Amino acid sequence: MKLMNSIERRYYKYLRDECVGGDYLKYKDQSALNILKKYFGYDSFRKGQEKLVHSILEGRDTLGIMPTGAGKSICYQVPALVMSGITLVISPLISLMKDQVTALNQAGVHAAYINSSLTAKQVTLAIDYARQGRYQIIYVAPERLETEEFLEFADSANINMVTVDEAHCISQWGQDFRPSYLKIVRFIEQLPTRPIISAFTATATKEVIEDISCVLRLKEPTIEVTGYDRANLYFEVRTPKNKDVEIVDYIKNHESNCGIIYCSTRSSVDELQEKLLQNEISSAKYHAGMSDSERNANQEDFIYDRKSVMIATNAFGMGIDKSNVRYVIHYNMPKNMESYYQEAGRAGRDGEPAECILFYGARDVKINQFLIENGNEKSEIGDAQRELIRERDEERLKIMTYYCFTRDCLREYILRYFGEYNDGFCNNCSSCLTEYTEQDVTDISQDIIECIRECGQRFGLNVIIATLMGRKIAKLTANQMVNSKFYGKRSSEGEAYLKHVINKLIIDGYLYLTNDKYSVVKIDRSARNLFDEGSKVIMKLPKEGFIDSDTSSHKAKRKSEVLTSRGLGLFDRLRQVRTNLAREEGVPPYIIFSDKTLTDMCIKQPFSKEEMLKVTGVGEHKYEKYAQSFLVAIEEYTNGTKETMSYEQPKEEIEPKRKKEQKSVKSEFYLTPDIMQGLHLEEMINISQFVEALKCYRSN
Ligand code: ADP
Repeated sequence: MKLMNSIERRYYKYLRDECVGGDYLKYKDQSALNILKKYFGYDSFRKGQEKLVHSILEGRDTLGIMPTGAGKSICYQVPALVMSGITLVISPLISLMKDQVTALNQAGVHAAYINSSLTAKQVTLAIDYARQGRYQIIYVAPERLETEEFLEFADSANINMVTVDEAHCISQWGQDFRPSYLKIVRFIEQLPTRPIISAFTATATKEVIEDISCVLRLKEPTIEVTGYDRANLYFEVRTPKNKDVEIVDYIKNHESNCGIIYCSTRSSVDELQEKLLQNEISSAKYHAGMSDSERNANQEDFIYDRKSVMIATNAFGMGIDKSNVRYVIHYNMPKNMESYYQEAGRAGRDGEPAECILFYGARDVKINQFLIENGNEKSEIGDAQRELIRERDEERLKIMTYYCFTRDCLREYILRYFGEYNDGFCNNCSSCLTEYTEQDVTDISQDIIECIRECGQRFGLNVIIATLMGRKIAKLTANQMVNSKFYGKRSSEGEAYLKHVINKLIIDGYLYLTNDKYSVVKIDRSARNLFDEGSKVIMKLPKEGFIDSDTSSHKAKRKSEVLTSRGLGLFDRLRQVRTNLAREEGVPPYIIFSDKTLTDMCIKQPFSKEEMLKVTGVGEHKYEKYAQSFLVAIEEYTNGTKETMSYEQPKEEIEPKRKKEQKSVKSEFYLTPDIMQGLHLEEMINISQFVEALKCYRSN
């Protein structure tokens, strides 16, 4: 075995050194495409994947930074199958390894994992099989690399590549630093031949990238950063009057989808589950106050699609690979953008449209402030450091809070936070899909600033608003605010409107809130500019009748954006087939076929093997294993005749339309006496009710 390996290694080195850039590399690139199709059922590589795969096949160290769901695994799995020898994948979590290996086995790839979930006997057996060359890909936990048994195996095995998954765990700058990751380099240095090293992560700060490269001692690596954007995710912020009512409504409107609802505390998880039960919605839950077995049972119920809703604290999610999560709702605003994007990013890993909705409530800021103030109490850090961390956390909380108020593109807001810029219009967030009118609020902004100045910048938002509204409350009398020239000056604007303007002034940097327990609103130096001639503050307000909190029509459209109702019927049928197969096999349904694959089956309606292999995500192995049941279901549903079950242009082919262009496609509408009669109005209605009635009339 040892002799064979060293010959193979020399041969491989010869190919690498002598033939790079030549026909051999082209041949390997072609093999990579063939493997992508054969095992994974995909026709082409995604953005970034091709470069990374090619780099590995060239024999270069490679570092890939791609957001969740971008397809990092394919980047090392495909080259692992093209090259001879073994690829060792170092992964931090048992659940991740299990999921990856199950998915590979389902695709017909021989892969295994070696970690503490196996008994000593099972580990020895797995290593024996590995020695016999049964596996091309082996997942290991970093701790395993130091055990004698594993080192002995590695010394004689033909390890061609070491892949470091979740590579940010190696960095002390990262949030998830794992000291055990530092063992990887020592392990690699002990191998008889230095393998190719590839590393992948979704965390892309400069410090983390430098750390990965340096600690792993990558040699002139190819580094590919594909960016943070997740184009398939729709972002929305809502400020509901009653969060529970909206959640129940949302879930009922999305019954066939599965989703996660994040709450900030254990008690809100428990309470929300209770509320859902009262509305006949059964859900799984997950938080640190439950026993391990309870948590595992609930997690499995969700992963295996036995329960479609998971209510959880942020303890849930790390290492969850479920690809068909169609929505992530935040019942409370999280404490910073990093947590928000990471949690929201658990939606739509399969690349299909998914929704990330944040329910904002003013109490969320208070809860987070409390958590920040009390979070580091018990940890063993010095006072100065604790103060620094608190200040940093307060700052992050502010940025998160502004996200909930901005009327600009939400995607742009998130990406800018991570250091990326795009054109400020994504057409897939509540800001971009809401029609706004612009209002000049310069006068009122000046009044607000003057009012704050007049009272010595000593009060919080509520006192300022109460003054401008002319409220009769003791605090104002005690502080002489009732004598202010601004007292009652803006009473006609309404409290909510004044709040909007103040938030706008905070987001634009003219005002700021102090980080004290009772935050005080202060004036920034830049506010002076607002009094210069010609300077303006323009605020966007949703147009009446088309308000973002009522985006149900938008959601209904998204559900059936690609498939017609016949198509959706077939989709349900195929999903049932998938559920039955998953139950028989004891694997999560999304491991059999993703939602994207089922959708493509509805569009293409394959009747033969040849046609079925053209469906995205259907590789040869999965065809042999599962396709028959789906072929039968499609044949039955269609009676063997292909129908049009999708709208002419599938979503990705539609050129994104700008809001203004969309407006121009709307047909003109005139209110005629006939239409008025058809509206059957009550005697007295307000404008919004009238607009609602019109919308109903038009959609019928
Ligand atoms: P990541 O590890 O980056 O979060 P995954 O490797 O889990 O992402 O991939 C996310 C999803 O994208 C999976 O369902 C995977 O099968 C799919 N995928 C990956 N590459 C491609 C591709 N080239 N074409 C179509 N789907 C792909």
